[in-house]
Amino acid sequence: MTFDLDLFVIGGGSGGVRAARMAAATGARVALAEASRMGGTCVIRGCVPKKLMVFASSFREMPAEARAYGWDMPDGAFDWTAFRPKLHAELDRLEGVYRRLLEGSGIAIHDQRARLADAHTVELADGQRFTAKHVLVATGGWAERPDLPGAELGMVSDDIFLMDKLPRSILVVGGGFIACEMACILQGLGVEVTQYYRGAQILRGFDDEARGLVAEAMKARGVNLHCGTTIVEMAEAGADHSLTGTETGGVMGAPVGETRAPQGKRGGPIWVKATNGTETTFDAVLFATGRRPNTAGLGLEDLGVQLGRRGEIVVDAYSQTAVPSIYAIGDVTDRINLTPVAIREGMAFSRTVFEGLPTAVDHDLVPSAVFTQPELGSVGLTEEAARAQEPIEVYATSFRPMRSAFAGASDRVLMKLIVSQATRKVLGCHIVAPDAGEMIQLAAIAVKMGATKEDFDRTVAVHPTMAEEMVTMRQPVRKG
Ligand code: NDP
Repeated sequence: MTFDLDLFVIGGGSGGVRAARMAAATGARVALAEASRMGGTCVIRGCVPKKLMVFASSFREMPAEARAYGWDMPDGAFDWTAFRPKLHAELDRLEGVYRRLLEGSGIAIHDQRARLADAHTVELADGQRFTAKHVLVATGGWAERPDLPGAELGMVSDDIFLMDKLPRSILVVGGGFIACEMACILQGLGVEVTQYYRGAQILRGFDDEARGLVAEAMKARGVNLHCGTTIVEMAEAGADHSLTGTETGGVMGAPVGETRAPQGKRGGPIWVKATNGTETTFDAVLFATGRRPNTAGLGLEDLGVQLGRRGEIVVDAYSQTAVPSIYAIGDVTDRINLTPVAIREGMAFSRTVFEGLPTAVDHDLVPSAVFTQPELGSVGLTEEAARAQEPIEVYATSFRPMRSAFAGASDRVLMKLIVSQATRKVLGCHIVAPDAGEMIQLAAIAVKMGATKEDFDRTVAVHPTMAEEMVTMRQPVRKG
């Protein structure tokens, strides 16, 4: 059978673009369809704009710190309307870079929605059809709102980057990556942030001690964090259920009438009833309650592609679905939903299918960082997971870092290693500190190589740094 193309990629995010380019580099005839903007979640509405907002928000504390170091520096105010156009100009630039990379690789770009008509045929929204020997689904995910009355009034993370003005107050719902990062960013930009998390402690799945320190630091910086709390219902303030004034029950909210920057679907203050009994109005509500794989309307089930409970595409270690010509990578497969993982999956796909080198993706010991303030960097097992697996030693130190301590701040950082008693290997490394994301990237190389605690100890400290504590912890704080 002859095909129009060797590969049709659906989705122009980090994973899809990398796979398309690698396949094209082998001489394959490749096309890619993207219904939204080229670059996908990471570039357009995720990692990149988020990190730029992290940088923007981090300047808030700098004048006070600079004064402590002898600088004559006044406090400043953040101007979203000055920052926003620059942010979007940068996203436009990056989108252009992605587009040019594809074009330069000879890949045909279709700026429209695509679906699968059969195992080898992709149909575009305008009715065009292409046959392809292989189809790669890399459609990513979408931010979901919880199912509760009034939820349509709330924003999701995509909307944050598009706000016309900053709200005076916001309720962030959720306790995962996005909720915690957004709470810190918005607080840093001068918004009054309240955060509701339904569980006992934020950042479920991370090391307990690290989670605890991040939560403390967030509260100390002014995030009004309520664990064990979530929304029961919400409505436009002033409607039947709502209060007409400020909050009751001690939760920080925006008084009606003082709202400077209406947000959400209807654009006015939002009344929220919480499980802790409080009723509060906020200028905006942000749902950061998880993301779902983007599989609806692709025609996958009809072809026999297996979907999981959350709608994710079920694939094998080579990212192949139950239909041999169809592969899937990235968030749509809901394995580890991180950009660099999607890129690795795209590269492994191309090696397997176009270079004749069957390559399974290595999902073991993937480092990650939560860009809260301070950041949380993590690789390997948490203390809790490691202890359940085997006898361990825990090396940990928490201290006030030199830079902020000199300026009189009480911030603490945490350096923690989880070590196997049997093999002496470092099973997990957890860092809560400014720039922990940068530190964990390097520590992850050692952990991935199977470094032992003694390998860490043999490494000479770089002094004076925070990270030197990683190689100077002599006695375990816990064993067992
Ligand atoms: P997460 O799965 O990390 O967090 C979702 C949060 O919402 C959890 O705290 C969850 O609670 C809570 N939640 C879920 N449903 C409800 C509900 N109905 N009512 C109230 N709370 C609810 O998802 P995110 O959206 O934060 O992030 C998605 C993924 O994107 C991450 O897992 C990560 O892979 C990736 N990401 C990575 C980043 C990075 O690398 N820095 C940054 C941002 C995203 P519970 O814990 O109880 O389930």
